[in-house]
Amino acid sequence: MKNSAQARLLATRDEREFMSLRDLSARVGADPFLVQASNGNTSIKLSGILWIKASGKWLAHAMQEEMLVPLELAEVQESVQKGTNIASQYAQNNDLYPSIETAMHAVLRHRVVLHVHSINAIAWAIRLDGPDQLKERLAGLHWRWIPYVASGMPLAREVEKAVAPAPETDVLILGNHGLVVCGPDCYTAETLLWDVERRLAIIPRRFPEPNATVLAMIARFTRWQFPDVDSLHALGTDAVSRKILKGGVLYPCQAIFLGTTMPLLPPALVLSKFMKRLNGSDRTPPFVAVERSGVMLREKMTRAERANLFGLVQVTQRTEESVALRYLKEAEITDLLGKDEHGYKEVVVMKQKADSPRRGITEGVVAR
Ligand SMILES: [Zn+2]
Repeated sequence: MKNSAQARLLATRDEREFMSLRDLSARVGADPFLVQASNGNTSIKLSGILWIKASGKWLAHAMQEEMLVPLELAEVQESVQKGTNIASQYAQNNDLYPSIETAMHAVLRHRVVLHVHSINAIAWAIRLDGPDQLKERLAGLHWRWIPYVASGMPLAREVEKAVAPAPETDVLILGNHGLVVCGPDCYTAETLLWDVERRLAIIPRRFPEPNATVLAMIARFTRWQFPDVDSLHALGTDAVSRKILKGGVLYPCQAIFLGTTMPLLPPALVLSKFMKRLNGSDRTPPFVAVERSGVMLREKMTRAERANLFGLVQVTQRTEESVALRYLKEAEITDLLGKDEHGYKEVVVMKQKADSPRRGITEGVVAR
C-alpha cells in the first residue's frame, strides 16, 4: 500500500517535471536568439526513461505536439558504450526519430539537458580565441569548451571525455555549433541558461541602411520579395558581415539550410544577367545579398530557411572584423551534408537498401 502511494507520488512528480520541460521547450523554442526552426533539443531523465526531443520537430510547438520520444536510458547508454547507432531501431518506424544528439543527452548525468543554438554562444564558438575569451565571462561556472566534432556519436564521445574528470560540468560551449546547459530540474537549468546568456551577450554592430531603389528593381521580378525583418539587409549592406561570410561555413546549420557559398552579387550587376543567373533555376538560393544594397528573399523560401538566415545575420553582426575565426573544413561539410534528414548516415543507408539499390547517398539530403 505504502509502495503504491509512493509510486503514485513519484509518478505525479515525474508528470509535473515532464510538463515543465514541455513548457520550457516551447518558450526556448520561440526565442529566435536561442533556437532557429527545428534545431536545438531538450531532454529529461525520469525513472530510468530518457525523454528526448524528436528529430525535425520544432521546440516552439512543444505544447501543441507530441515531440518527446521515450527511450530506456540504460539501453541508450549501452549503445553509446558499444558505439552502436541509437536510431537504427527506429529506422523502420516513420513516426518520431530521437534527436541526432540523443547520445550526448544520455552521457550527461544531469536530469534536464537543454541544447540551444544561442546566437551569442555561436558568436563565441566560431572564434579561434573563444576558449580564452570565455574564461573570464564564464568564471565561477562549471563549464567546458568542446572543439568542433560532428553531431551524434562523435560529439557524445567528446562530451563524455570532457565531463569524466569534472562530472559537475553543467555548461558546454560546442565549438562551431552552440550551447548546452544542464540542471537537476527545469527551473535550475533555465536559470543557468539565462545566466550564461547574460554573460555571453554581445551588442550587434550597426549596419548601413538598405538601398531600396536597387532592391525594388529586383522586387519587380515575381519570385523575389523584400524581407519582413529589416536586420537581414545587414548581409548585403555591412562590409564586415560580407567579408566574414565569404570566408566559408561557420557552423552546420548554415550549410544545411542556406548552402555552402554565400549568394552575393556585386551592386553593378546588370539585372537581366541577375535574372538569368538566379531566377527559375533549381539551384536558385533561398536568398540573395546585393553588395551595399541589401537582401532579397526568394518567394518559396521556407520558414526554416528564414529562421536560419536570421540566425546567421545575428551571428555575423556580433563578430568583429579583427577576430580570427575557425571555419568548418571541407571534409566536415561533406560529412554533415552526407547525412539524411535526421542526421543519421546509417539510417539513410538502411533505407536505401530497403528502397532501391541504385539511389545515391546524397539524394534527399538537406530536406529539413
Ligand atoms: Zn545542435
